[in-house]
Formats: sequence, C-alpha cells, structure tokens
Amino acid sequence: MGQMIDGFGRNIDYLRISVTDRCNFRCQYCMPENQSFLPHGELLDYTEIALLADRFIAHGIRKIRLTGGEPLVRRDMQVLLLALGKYVQQGRLDELTLTTNGSLLAKFAPILVQAGVQRINVSLDSLDPQKFSSITRGGKLDQVLSGIAAAKQHGLHIKINMVAMKGVNETDLLAIAHMCAGEGHDLAIIEAMPLGSSVTGRKQGYISADDFVSPLRDITPLVAITDRSAGPARYWRAENLDLKIGMITPLSRNFCDDCNRLRLTTDGKIYMCLGSEMNIDFKAAIRDQGLKAVDKLLQKHLG
Ligand code: SAM
Ligand code: SF4
Repeated sequence: MGQMIDGFGRNIDYLRISVTDRCNFRCQYCMPENQSFLPHGELLDYTEIALLADRFIAHGIRKIRLTGGEPLVRRDMQVLLLALGKYVQQGRLDELTLTTNGSLLAKFAPILVQAGVQRINVSLDSLDPQKFSSITRGGKLDQVLSGIAAAKQHGLHIKINMVAMKGVNETDLLAIAHMCAGEGHDLAIIEAMPLGSSVTGRKQGYISADDFVSPLRDITPLVAITDRSAGPARYWRAENLDLKIGMITPLSRNFCDDCNRLRLTTDGKIYMCLGSEMNIDFKAAIRDQGLKAVDKLLQKHLG
C-alpha cells in the first residue's frame, strides 16, 4: 500500500470527490440563482470515478467523502455508492462519508448504510422554514428534517453543518444546538468563504466562527477537546448541552499545516488546496491513456 506525502511533508490520506456540480438548492453563499452547469460529457462517469478511487486508494487514500453540488441528485447515485462501498468491505478504505443537503436522505439512507457509510454531514442553516427557504432559495425544511430523521433511524451518525452568516442566522444557533444535543448529532460551524465572484452578499455576511458561537457561551462553557476528524475542524464540547461542536475556520484561523486532503472535481481535476488554482487533470489521463497514465501522474505529483 502506498503513502502520499506532499511537498510540505503532509501525509495525504483523504479524498473529497465532487460527484456532480448540480444541486436542487441554490444556497445564497454557494451559487447564484441562474447557475450554469457543465455538460454531462465533461463529468467523470461512475466507472471512471470508481477506477480513479481505486488508484488513489492504492497510493494511500484511506478516507473518501462524496460531495457536490448535491451528491444525491446525480442519477442512479446508488450505483456509485455501492461501487465505492466495495472498497470499504474489502478493508482498503477506512471510511466512506457524504456531505448532503439532506433533501433526498429519506430515499438514500438505507442505500448509504448498505454501502458501508456510517457518518454523514447534513447542511442546515436555520430551523425557521421561511428563512431556510430564503437561504437555500426554495429548499423545504420539512423534507430535510424528515431526511435527517430517516438517516438517524437507519443508524447513521449525523453532523449538522451550519454556515455562519452575520445578520442572517446568528439567532438560529441556539435552536440548532439544542436540536443537535437532543438528537445526538454533532454540530459544525463553518465560516462563509468568498469562493466566487458570481455569488453576492458574502462580504457583508462574514462573521468569525468564534463570534458566531458567543450566544452559546452565555449558556454553557465551551471546552476545547483534542478530537480530530479527517477534516479541518477543531472541536469543543458544550458542557451543559453535552454537545460536540466543530469549528471550520478558513478565514479567522487557517488550517494549512495539518490539511490532509485532495479534492477531485466533477470534471476530473485534482486540486490540492482550496486556495490555489493549481490542478492535475486526471480525466484527460484516464480517457486518453488509461490507468497506467493515472498511476504515473500519482507517482509524479504525490508519490
Ligand atoms: N450540497 C451538499 C451540502 O450542501 O451539504 C454538499 C456540497 S456543499 C458545497 C458542502 C458544504 O459546503 C456545505 O456544508 C455547505 O454549507 C458548505 N458551503 C458551501 N458554500 C460555502 C461557502 N461559501 N462558505 C462556506 N461553506 C460553504
Ligand atoms: Fe451549494 Fe450544497 Fe447549497 Fe447546493 S445545497 S447550493 S451544493 S451548499
């Protein structure tokens, strides 16, 4: 089994795969209302994703997270889930996880379990149906809550991802924290990142995760804990609620030193850093020259 050490001596063992750029929501911080999407032919197909995953695993990847866009909107997503699930069953992959907006979880929860998924992240920025609809531009809160309930019922461990937006959902934190504590979910607070010029209103909406959680500090001590997940979060325990809270702080405190992840985009490019446009085109390699070319690229850039 290989190991990937990058130019900064970091052991790279975590791959995020964006399985589609499409989504049934249009969250204000993520994409514009009239977002355009890649033509289908540009997307890696499921066979290509599974083959690439196989080669990345052979070179040291131990954890894969599926994301998007919304991963569960891609047609026949169960095919990919079960194909990647085989690597978990074979013991070649320690963990297969998913980040989702939750709207299709009622259908997919049993399939996720079948694929060996044990933990998922579900995005939820407000428990107010109107505010939720406004943030997501049309998302239905009750559908997401039913999805979360179905996932819990099927034994999936859930972490709620909440993007911190100044003046938008600061007042929703306590309700979401109480829900998480009551249901046994974890909570992650994510600082809103200015990721693209086509999405408006972010600069005005920025608040540090630390400031965002200050209403929680009024009701409970937050004690730093040493837990590390495969991701970049740092963790606290809200003692009075018995709740674990992660904070993902790309802006107020970067986490480059211990970043251990690669990102594979929908159209087959590997990015090693969120803050850099540098990428390696694995779609061209696999389509033009096959798996040997993929292995060569892996050895050249990440061996
Ligand atoms: N559609 C899925 C979802 O919403 O969970 C998966 C993809 S989404 C891009 C993954 C995560 O990124 C979500 O938790 C979402 O809230 C977060 N996200 C999207 N745009 C962001 C931004 N500009 N700043 C910070 N987090 C963002
Ligand atoms: Fe972006 Fe996820 Fe919201 Fe879709 S649900 S718009 S991918 S954050």
